[in-house]
Amino acid sequence: MGSEVEVRYRNIKYPRIELRTGKVILILPHGKNPEEVLERHKKWIERKLGFIEECKKEAEGKEPVERNEEEFRTLVLSLVEEFSRELGVKVNKVFFRRMSTRWASCSRKGNLTINRLARFLPSHLIEYIVFHELAHLIERRHTDAFWRVVSRKFPSYPSLERELFAYWFKVWG
Ligand SMILES: [Zn+2]
Repeated sequence: MGSEVEVRYRNIKYPRIELRTGKVILILPHGKNPEEVLERHKKWIERKLGFIEECKKEAEGKEPVERNEEEFRTLVLSLVEEFSRELGVKVNKVFFRRMSTRWASCSRKGNLTINRLARFLPSHLIEYIVFHELAHLIERRHTDAFWRVVSRKFPSYPSLERELFAYWFKVWG
């Protein structure tokens, strides 16, 4: 796996592994031996690399959806209305922003931020993103309780998560 792993050093205390660019980036505190960290987390890294490979393969067959900004906003706002009623949660404001690390986020106060690049996604994934974020108003973290709420509407959420990951490479790769 050597060639797929990039090592960077930073002023941090503990080693960290980042995967979102589609390769493994090992972030180490100064003076830390990468071999040691790689060896210790070998199984985990190999599993993640396998996942990334799967996603990349899946991404090959995907095309970005043509949808203009206006259509995208209208779609998101109507989904927010529908799903907040369905979940019994209150959304404060909806923001559209270009984000480089995630498709969306939701603050404790009910402010929902949607990545503007999500307008290239098929509608079923936009639906999933909105529902997922609103479910965070019921449960902040990715606990079993959270996934139970999500799976009531999206029983196949693991494959949707993978699809989103695949599209991430399409948009950013
Ligand atoms: Zn989440």
